[in-house]
Amino acid sequence: MSEVRDLQVPSGREPLSAVLRGPGELTLERRPRAPLRPWEVRIRVGLVGVCGTDRALLSGALATRYPLVPGHEFVGEVIEVGDPRDAAWLGRRVCADINNTCLSRRRAAPCRACRLALPHHCQRRDVTGIHEAAGAFAEELVAPAANLFAVPDSVSDLRAMFCEPLAAALAAFERAPVGPGDVVVVLGAGRLGALIAAVARRRGADVLAVGRSPRKLARCLALDCGELVRVDDPALSLRARVDARTEGLGADVVVEATGAPEGLLRAQELVRPRGTIVLKTTCGLPSGFDLTRAVVDEVTLVGSRCGAFADALELLARDPLPVESLVEETYPLREVARALERAGEVFKVAVRVGPDA
Ligand SMILES: [Zn+2]
Ligand SMILES: [Zn+2]
Repeated sequence: MSEVRDLQVPSGREPLSAVLRGPGELTLERRPRAPLRPWEVRIRVGLVGVCGTDRALLSGALATRYPLVPGHEFVGEVIEVGDPRDAAWLGRRVCADINNTCLSRRRAAPCRACRLALPHHCQRRDVTGIHEAAGAFAEELVAPAANLFAVPDSVSDLRAMFCEPLAAALAAFERAPVGPGDVVVVLGAGRLGALIAAVARRRGADVLAVGRSPRKLARCLALDCGELVRVDDPALSLRARVDARTEGLGADVVVEATGAPEGLLRAQELVRPRGTIVLKTTCGLPSGFDLTRAVVDEVTLVGSRCGAFADALELLARDPLPVESLVEETYPLREVARALERAGEVFKVAVRVGPDA
């Protein structure tokens, strides 16, 4: 079991937050409530998912500006609004897009990206729990009202917690649409990869979900991620499996979600000419990527980051996709350090905030 010691919980009445003061330096602090600006609401956090980004922020592998309250996969309840015109949100269960943009702040002169309807690429954005905006490993957080999405009653907190990663999974196929007849390989069947594979299956594609850990692959069974394949399966190579489905041509779409630079090399081995490689991990270019082959095969490389919350919530409400079965362990906020550590071992970890925490 874990060697992580629980953090000291300071006394006081102000809301508790987990604060990253530097790489590896996580503390629990009580922070005074800042008054809301007119475009903001205050959310009492309910449940937060732990993801690889949180672990990368904690280790310092993903650079950010400190101090930072991490946590960006959350569901909570609106308890205060900065503008009385947003009063309808009070008491609503919500998720919130984590990109805080010119549009979120109702700026009179939005940046060019926002004017081009690319708000996720806002030139003045901050990102909740990741970059310059306090996140959800806290009893309360502040978000722009324009970023809120009401969670339907039929979607539990545990399912709603998957809104952000599921939106990111849907985004993988935004510029590389897949459907029946397509062969899709998802490299890295982990927290995000499993959702990506499940989305491709629901679009009717023939999916190979590839992972390293048999334990993690077993977790994917509940979601119907297609054929689950161990990357180093000695019985039949990955390329042979793809060839068998494609008359040796290669996969139509390969999604790289391994978190390792080598994943791109494998993706190139598997994709067909004029096929698409979707890049979901920000880990740099591996040495050995064959640019000549990329040109000759006319391969499309697509970067993919955040997705549409509305689509994710709609899917969670309509489709019984059992995302909640991916959660293996849940910890209270005061055990957030343990939660972050355990997320390196098990599939999905949740942090429950609130009175019973
Ligand atoms: Zn995440
Ligand atoms: Zn902008």
